[in-house]
Amino acid sequence: MAILVTGGAGYIGSHTCVELLNSGKDVVIADNLYNCKKSSLDRIRALVSKDFKFYECDIRDAEGLQKIFDNEKIDSVIHFAGLKAVGESVEKPLEYFDNNVNGTLVLLDVMRKNNCKKIVFSSSATVYGMNNISPLTEDMEVGGVTNPYGRTKFMIECILKDLYTSDNDWSICLLRYFNPIGAHKSGTMGEDPNGIPNNLMPYITQVAIGKREFLNVWGDDYDTPDGTGVRDYIHVVDLALGHLKAVEKVEADNGLFIYNLGTGIGYSVLDVVRAFEKASGVKIPYKIAPRRAGDIATCFSSSEKALKELGWKAERGIEEMCEDSWRWQSQNPQGYPD
Ligand code: NAD
Ligand code: UDP
Repeated sequence: MAILVTGGAGYIGSHTCVELLNSGKDVVIADNLYNCKKSSLDRIRALVSKDFKFYECDIRDAEGLQKIFDNEKIDSVIHFAGLKAVGESVEKPLEYFDNNVNGTLVLLDVMRKNNCKKIVFSSSATVYGMNNISPLTEDMEVGGVTNPYGRTKFMIECILKDLYTSDNDWSICLLRYFNPIGAHKSGTMGEDPNGIPNNLMPYITQVAIGKREFLNVWGDDYDTPDGTGVRDYIHVVDLALGHLKAVEKVEADNGLFIYNLGTGIGYSVLDVVRAFEKASGVKIPYKIAPRRAGDIATCFSSSEKALKELGWKAERGIEEMCEDSWRWQSQNPQGYPD
């Protein structure tokens, strides 16, 4: 039996596929290649002892998905496919709701028709909104999100909860990621954003290779130790290993499960800049700029539930995250080849 990984050619999906395959699982990837390069699949192949199937397929294409279910023995799904740029989602809300929410509805309907009722979903700490106080626990009220991207995650969580209520044969795991950074230790796989990066780490690594002049630090007047925003950065390989545990959970038990995937530790923007400089030996020039709209001061997880119920905890610290991000960026200044 195989795991269908939607969005498996992307940043988190590709790292997760490496861990799934190296643990002996059968993997089928479906990706429309909208936000990744096909060469990421070759990089996965080079790191694993086992091959996998790839389908170039949009999750909104029910017939395309049905063909995958006809050809393969799919037992469970890890659902990464989605658009993820907060700013872009404000400009293009209809595209975001169509791709993320409608895409998930099409996927779930095809799964149901094929009696495949186990799914792990990529949610985000953004669903905790502006008002909950860190450390964030899974029982806190969610919602109050400030942008269309976050709303798609919140809406999909609601859909999956309602689906479970309607039919307890489903087994559903919502994983709320904190801030994934880092890259595979080999330096051959990592994050490869299109255009100007929105997120902190890819921006820093592009400053480090000279692609950008300096980092804008969005605000130094927050109520945090140094005034800059505090986040819970998690190594992408730890995140990938969390998916291995989560898929084993939905394979073993029926239910609706919700877990934070974070380290439980908050670092400020300037902490990350300093850790990166230490790991790379490269100075990162920065300028303090006004706050970015929609940002909150502090966001970090409580990671106790995932430890207690999945036996998972993040093992890799900020130094390793920075070293691995730098190895990927310096060895692949243009990202994945076309
Ligand atoms: P990514 O863009 O690298 O990967 C997403 C993949 O999905 C891409 O390869 C893209 O081509 C594919 N895709 C998009 N729409 C599709 C569609 N309609 N049909 C088929 N494939 C499609 O992003 P990522 O960072 O790996 O994120 C994976 C998931 O995790 C996303 O759902 C994202 O919202 C969520 N997430 C990411 C972060 C983060 O900071 N990276 C944080 C929280 C949650
Ligand atoms: N940040 C910054 N400059 C950048 C990108 C991000 O100062 O170019 C800050 C941002 O304000 C936040 C933190 O870095 O405090 C993490 O931002 P990111 O966009 O990576 O993730 P978020 O937590 O917003 O999803």
